[in-house]
Amino acid sequence: MGQGKKLYVNKNWAAYSERVKRRDGFKCLRCGRGPEDVTLQVHHNTYITHKAPWEYALSDCRTLCKGCHAREHDLIEPDRGWTLLSIHDLGGPAGNCERKGCGAEIRYAHYAYHPNWGYLVVGSTCVEYLTRADRLLSSNVIHLYKNISDFVNSSEWSPGFTQKGKKFIRTTYRHHQIRLYGDELSHSFQIVLKEKGVRWHNFAKAIFASGKSTTAVKELAYIALRGMISKREEEKELLRSLYRELKINT
Ligand SMILES: [Zn+2]
Ligand SMILES: [Zn+2]
Ligand SMILES: [Zn+2]
Repeated sequence: MGQGKKLYVNKNWAAYSERVKRRDGFKCLRCGRGPEDVTLQVHHNTYITHKAPWEYALSDCRTLCKGCHAREHDLIEPDRGWTLLSIHDLGGPAGNCERKGCGAEIRYAHYAYHPNWGYLVVGSTCVEYLTRADRLLSSNVIHLYKNISDFVNSSEWSPGFTQKGKKFIRTTYRHHQIRLYGDELSHSFQIVLKEKGVRWHNFAKAIFASGKSTTAVKELAYIALRGMISKREEEKELLRSLYRELKINT
């Protein structure tokens, strides 16, 4: 099949992995062999979400040969966090996609890398799939921000009183309730969870949000509620970090 044309190479990764290999004397740190016997690769000791493979400290990485590298990794292929490093034209259908359960013949070899897994040579369909999750996440973020601003700008609030006569305003989101007590700059908010069709209410502790505008407290309360009811771990985590951010800064 000949040499195969290089179509695309990630320069950041090439430079970064070269530095790691040079530091390690161009030797596998597990078996000690060098480029005359084996293919050297760069392994990440840790994985940080949304970090490109070349954005890690050099000390997060070590040089391993292809075989030792494969042995270093778990058996479950991660489905997000992959970066496309390069595409090579094999000149014909000379390779096979390495993604689990695929194995399709490929002409364009896409080298994908995951700090927690290593390298995978896949076809164009599978690389789409592997690198899609992060794009989905960012569109989820945008979608969530829109939900928040829609809520803050168009939720309807009505007045009410607690059994002890304390005044509040309230709104509902999917049969759950958000209550705001107090006045601008000295609000507290309370989330009241209710299961659909059930009379039972669960009153969370009221949270004091001093120094914040009514708008900011509505936003904070909505994020807190969404965080409590979300079933998706990714979304929960995003809401949690948003909440921490807003609790301190607005
Ligand atoms: Zn690795
Ligand atoms: Zn080795
Ligand atoms: Zn495939």
